[in-house]
Amino acid sequence: MPSTVESAVRRDRGDQKLWVWLTVLTARGRKCTYCDEEQSVTLEHETPLATKGRDIWWNLVPACDRCNRWKNRKSASEWKIDMEMEHRHPGAGFARNKLPLQVVMGITERVAEVQREIQDSARLRWFEHHHGKYKKPRLRREVHECVEACVKELARYPYPPWVSPELQAEAKRCTRRLCCGHTHPDAWFGFIILSVDERKELLRAAYDEGLYVGDLLGHWVKRYLAERARSKD
Ligand SMILES: [Zn+2]
Ligand SMILES: [Zn+2]
Ligand SMILES: [Zn+2]
Repeated sequence: MPSTVESAVRRDRGDQKLWVWLTVLTARGRKCTYCDEEQSVTLEHETPLATKGRDIWWNLVPACDRCNRWKNRKSASEWKIDMEMEHRHPGAGFARNKLPLQVVMGITERVAEVQREIQDSARLRWFEHHHGKYKKPRLRREVHECVEACVKELARYPYPPWVSPELQAEAKRCTRRLCCGHTHPDAWFGFIILSVDERKELLRAAYDEGLYVGDLLGHWVKRYLAERARSKD
């Protein structure tokens, strides 16, 4: 567990950064951990903050709105037991709303599964690297759009980019062959001629920004194109 990741999440208690939302909401194919049916739209605390849950990785579970509402302040295991009891003694008041028994029985396993997935360090680093710089939008709809865009982006890769080999084992920037390396689906080759000093400066700048050189150049080119488009209207 990289400590920077943990502190980033802890610092923003209750209001995690965008990349944390993306990391969690894209897990398990976006399916809600509890009902295994609806799309995940929110982060659930596996042990709610109201009790002793700390707002850190192993507490975050993607859930749909309905399950989030139904589970309310209970922990996943409390809620699971209550729903089981409600199935055995209908109307005895254990849970006002319940998921089908078969679905209830799988909750523990799905929580463990999703936590394994979101704690995968290569996956974590990938999300932090690619989305760590963006602020979480205020509106829920906007967060949802970011998740949609990220899922679409991921779908274009033949396999998850964090599984692809690193060209250079470096913590500071991503050198995964599939996403920031030359086999990215949008990779495009061009040439620039720079002096040795300029090239050194460029490499240093990219390193400082935590970006692959191509990404840094791409960023400038995109800004230039956007400005150019604006000045034309
Ligand atoms: Zn659900
Ligand atoms: Zn993405
Ligand atoms: Zn990358």
